[in-house]
Amino acid sequence: MKNRQNPSNVTQAETSRLARPATLLGLFFFVILFFYGLWQNNYGMKNALTMSAIGVAGISYTLFLYYLSAAHPACLTRWQALIIISNAAAITISLAALPVYIQIIPHLVIILVSVVTVIIWGRNQALIFIVSATTLQAILSPPTLSPLGLWTQFFSHFSLFLEAIILSEITHRLIQALYARIERLENLNDFARRIGASLEKEEVISLVNSALQEALAADTYYLGILENGQIRLDLLYDDGEFFTGTVVNAEGTLSGWVVRNRQPLFIPDLRQDVDLEGVSLVIAGKEQTSLSWMGIPMITAHLTGILAVASYEPNAFDRTDMELLENLGQQAALSLDNAYHHEEVEKQSRLDSLTHVYNHGYFLTLLEQSAATIRASGGGMSLVMMDIDYFKQYNDSYGHLVGDKVLVELTRLLSSYIKATDSVGRWGGEEFALLLMGANGLQALQIAERIREKVNSLNLQTEDGRQIALPTVSQGVALFPAETGDIIKLVDLADQRLYLAKERGRNQIEPGEDHWKHIQ
Ligand code: GH3
Ligand code: MG
Ligand code: MG
Repeated sequence: MKNRQNPSNVTQAETSRLARPATLLGLFFFVILFFYGLWQNNYGMKNALTMSAIGVAGISYTLFLYYLSAAHPACLTRWQALIIISNAAAITISLAALPVYIQIIPHLVIILVSVVTVIIWGRNQALIFIVSATTLQAILSPPTLSPLGLWTQFFSHFSLFLEAIILSEITHRLIQALYARIERLENLNDFARRIGASLEKEEVISLVNSALQEALAADTYYLGILENGQIRLDLLYDDGEFFTGTVVNAEGTLSGWVVRNRQPLFIPDLRQDVDLEGVSLVIAGKEQTSLSWMGIPMITAHLTGILAVASYEPNAFDRTDMELLENLGQQAALSLDNAYHHEEVEKQSRLDSLTHVYNHGYFLTLLEQSAATIRASGGGMSLVMMDIDYFKQYNDSYGHLVGDKVLVELTRLLSSYIKATDSVGRWGGEEFALLLMGANGLQALQIAERIREKVNSLNLQTEDGRQIALPTVSQGVALFPAETGDIIKLVDLADQRLYLAKERGRNQIEPGEDHWKHIQ
């Protein structure tokens, strides 16, 4: 919220606009007083000219206030107490000049000015006005000595006081409700703007998290994505704690119902029977039962999910909360869809389209990143460069499609022989590279040797079931940083060794065990 934390904080332009009807009312009242005085003077009524004079003073005062509101609205804030009390004085003194038979006018004017005061300055200032105006009116009203007259006067002043207080309070609450709605809309707008600009899944989820925290009094909330018949909770907050990696069943749960029926669900009180087909309640997060729950589906072209909030209190949410959740959910779904799509495109852009291992460009980036990590925190890594022997003959004998199949099968085998921290890349045509994190030369040699042996046991067949001759590979190994601290030189070294292996007869690894005995 920018400048509306206090509901009585109206902007300068708003003050001037709000002051206009009040000004017209004041002018109308004082002009009537002025002419009424003149008219009564013709009939020789006592104090009639005083009435007209009060009318002129009132007109000047009203115009002065309007000038202040339009030209120097800051003065309305700075001198608010003074203005409020002089308003009360101006109105009650003028009213006292009116004949008794039109006493309804004082009531109306005091009530209307109380309402205007609430709008412009707020509830406390209206109270100051009402108390001063009704007290002054009581003091200025003609004295009466009979007990009945006293009681009548007391009730008249007291009922005026009550009416003004009640109407001011209603106006104050209306304004508060209005500002609460505006605040929600502004927050939602802000959320939509920020989430719309976000392409990272984590950022989208974190924005949903802060929006839910700010907007709803929820003990629990979660955002789940439907995956293989289960709901993966990418965000789960319960009673002050975040949980990760939670997966809930889509079958038999409220979330499952929302996702399956693609409909919002609002259950104000879960203690009452929830009569939904195939639903029995499931607790995620802590083992405390929620008593109110609402969830909305998030459906886009690429994802199906749910956004839900719950509270340990019954009836914690109302329809406006549900509306808000629906708006948040729609925005979140679109942004998540974008983020997932973006993530997928990014992932694809790193991979080789045939073999789905890292492509040349990304493998080089990985090498640089790993080198930076090692430079910062120590350790080492080995690079294995590998090339299929006489691969051209495969293409010539079996055709390119079979050649492709060999490449795919080989990368599958390579991927199965490395750890999660290692990586495989396609360096070029039938040339591959392995990054072995933490492996020294001897360990890399062992892995390369195992691959060399396993390539021999690949089961390769043509479409029509003919056995394909098994390929062999030649490999070159280089160690970072023991042999070189530079990535380009490391690649070059492994490449030179690969060609040495080719020269020495192929189907072998360079350098051999002896080389690594003294290099760690
Ligand atoms: P060497 O033992 O010396 O490595 O012999 P080679 O035949 O493997 O070497 P060369 O570099 O002369 O040939 C590589 C061949 O790999 C040439 C090309 O037809 C083939 N090749 C490169 N990329 C692909 C591909 O994506 N699919 C298929 N099927 N063949 C490819
Ligand atoms: Mg080759
Ligand atoms: Mg080659």
